Amino acid sequence: MIAAQFDYKVPNSLEEAVSLIAADPDGSKILAGGHSLIPAMKLRLAQPQVLVDIARIKSLAYIREQGDEILIGATTTHYQLESSALLRQICPLLPLCAASIGDVQVRNKGTIGGSLAHSDPAGDWPAAALALKAELVLIGQGGERVVKADDFFVDFLTTDLQPGEILREIRIKKPTGKFGHAYEKVPHPASGFAVVGVAVNLSLKADGSCESASIGVTGVGVKAYRPNGAESALSGSSLNDAAVIEAASHACDGVDLNNDLFASGEYRCHLAKVHTRRAIAKAKASAK
Ligand SMILES: Cc1cc2nc3c(=O)[nH]c(=O)nc-3n(C[C@H](O)[C@H](O)[C@H](O)COP(=O)(O)OP(=O)(O)OC[C@H]3O[C@@H](n4cnc5c(N)ncnc54)[C@H](O)[C@@H]3O)c2cc1C
Repeated sequence: MIAAQFDYKVPNSLEEAVSLIAADPDGSKILAGGHSLIPAMKLRLAQPQVLVDIARIKSLAYIREQGDEILIGATTTHYQLESSALLRQICPLLPLCAASIGDVQVRNKGTIGGSLAHSDPAGDWPAAALALKAELVLIGQGGERVVKADDFFVDFLTTDLQPGEILREIRIKKPTGKFGHAYEKVPHPASGFAVVGVAVNLSLKADGSCESASIGVTGVGVKAYRPNGAESALSGSSLNDAAVIEAASHACDGVDLNNDLFASGEYRCHLAKVHTRRAIAKAKASAK
């Protein structure tokens, strides 16, 4: 359980981090909270030649409103998101999701950018990012590009991030009108990771029926996903019990299910349906 040798670089700015990683894009890795990368290095699943530590770049940790968007810096910790009074008011799904992650120590060190970049199939942030239709700002030596969360999670532990790129910022449209959020999770009893996690973002009409719904599910497949069948069943529905049960029945349609010693694919799919139903009901009840 000792990592292979590596060089350790501590840039003072994002620009310096970009040029350090560009010097050896395939051999370097960004280090943020280290709560996924360091265990992987100790197991020698990852053996980077160079670690570029961005956790000390103060300008990368922020939560701000700008026009109709919420901007979140990549090294903002889970705890900073959990405890943000602003987010509790304008986008409660983010603090709800953050509060469900690991334990206090994990939430104090781990970052939203690290979690999204890692794309653990049991990670919580990918579900919230999908439900909120987040956009991710990536920067490399060639400049910046913006990727929708829908296109960012590519496969098991694989994202659209290219060698030499850094996830700089997460952008989310501020929910408007009457909306409700919920995050329902079955935590693994040992790690706290999601056996199943369901993030729901409901937009309601004045009469309480559903204008639109976006849902992110984690833990069930190789990567987090949006259950399109459930979302379209909710859209325009009255959100009565029958409509919610019908929508939740589509929670794992077409998904290649994770299967391990702790939870079979069939069990995960069952949990996904139950917790999608509960999350929709909670989001509806929370709507203001
Ligand atoms: C005991 C324990 C329990 C946990 N429980 C949970 C849980 O319940 N739910 C959950 O979701 N997670 C859980 N985690 C994981 C935790 O949330 C991690 O913090 C997170 O997955 C990774 O974030 P990090 O900042 O630590 O990233 P790191 O470990 O530093 O990096 C992870 C990966 O992302 C890359 N990376 C990091 N930041 C960037 C960036 N800005 N741009 C490009 N690449 C980047 C790194 O190169 C590395 O490949 C747990 C971890 C532990 C140790």
